[in-house]
Amino acid sequence: MSISPFPSLLPHMPDVKGRLSEFALLSKTTWFQVGGPAQLLYKPENADELSYFLAHKPTSIPLTTIGVGSNLLVRDGGIEGIVLRLGKGFTDMVVTNNQIQIGSGALDINASLFACQHNLGGFEFLSGIPGTIGGALRMNAGAYGREIKDIFISAIALDPKGKVHKLTIEDMGFSMRHCAIPQDWIFISAILQGYEDDPQIIADKNKHIKNQRESTQPVKSRTGGSTFVNPKGYKAWELIEQAGCRGLRFGNAMVSDLHCNFLINTGDATAHDIESLGQLVQSRVLDASGILLEWEIKRIGQRLG
Ligand SMILES: Cc1cc2nc3c(=O)[nH]c(=O)nc-3n(C[C@H](O)[C@H](O)[C@H](O)COP(=O)(O)OP(=O)(O)OC[C@H]3O[C@@H](n4cnc5c(N)ncnc54)[C@H](O)[C@@H]3O)c2cc1C
Repeated sequence: MSISPFPSLLPHMPDVKGRLSEFALLSKTTWFQVGGPAQLLYKPENADELSYFLAHKPTSIPLTTIGVGSNLLVRDGGIEGIVLRLGKGFTDMVVTNNQIQIGSGALDINASLFACQHNLGGFEFLSGIPGTIGGALRMNAGAYGREIKDIFISAIALDPKGKVHKLTIEDMGFSMRHCAIPQDWIFISAILQGYEDDPQIIADKNKHIKNQRESTQPVKSRTGGSTFVNPKGYKAWELIEQAGCRGLRFGNAMVSDLHCNFLINTGDATAHDIESLGQLVQSRVLDASGILLEWEIKRIGQRLG
């Protein structure tokens, strides 16, 4: 017998080959390792199947796309509707004229390794970001002074009806950790620009980024990356530090000692612990500095009870 709060959606789903898993626990998917079930988790075989699925599923059932959950706090009550995750059928990479055409399910680290193998510079910053290309497009992911927008040529996305759209940089409307494409559109691939470079120089840059990250960020912990966006002219971590929040705890969630814009699941934290800790940090920073920090981490799903 299912203990899920959600009824089954399977009888309403179009006939597809991709995997449909009922009530899959999202804590197994997210970096924080918290989060309730997806009413239905769908992993499509390929883009054609996904397009067919979107065109034939009931429009009343909501759909949420996730990557590898490295920027997500999924609440303990889970996600109603369909949760879409792009898997193996969306990881192809092809090089033409110093550009890489890449599936949105590919990991950023694999994009940077592939670029190195093909003597292409410009992708090194992706080597330290633990998400997928789809998540990088949505978040305009960036590090060390470069963002996805700096290498972006075009992307292919599906709208909620399964219609294919080719997107230019103007369409994307990139800004700090944000793009302007509607939240219910799904990126399926992108073309990203590199430049010819010596593979040893690229590998050295990748190694330098890895070392620097490991010494300054809790990359081996259950975390969601930077919790709050840097307010204009400020660094979120400094404001958090000045408000005395380094090491602050709520339940089993803790502000990282190593980098205080990172929250950590220290063991068996709930999403409620982590979100409450984030809210506590927000209110202490507001009291100390008058600045309201804005969440960078996406909080999705339902609260329990
Ligand atoms: C240790 C650590 C370090 C990090 N360092 C950095 C960093 O240096 N720079 C940085 O920018 N980020 C960083 N992050 C945050 C995170 O890795 C990025 O935001 C990443 O781009 C998220 O990708 P994801 O696949 O995990 O997406 P998710 O976290 O699964 O989703 C994030 C958002 O993207 C959307 N999304 C995902 N895939 C698609 C798709 N195919 N189509 C449409 N929407 C999609 C989701 O709906 C959601 O809104 C870090 C995170 C961790 C845990």
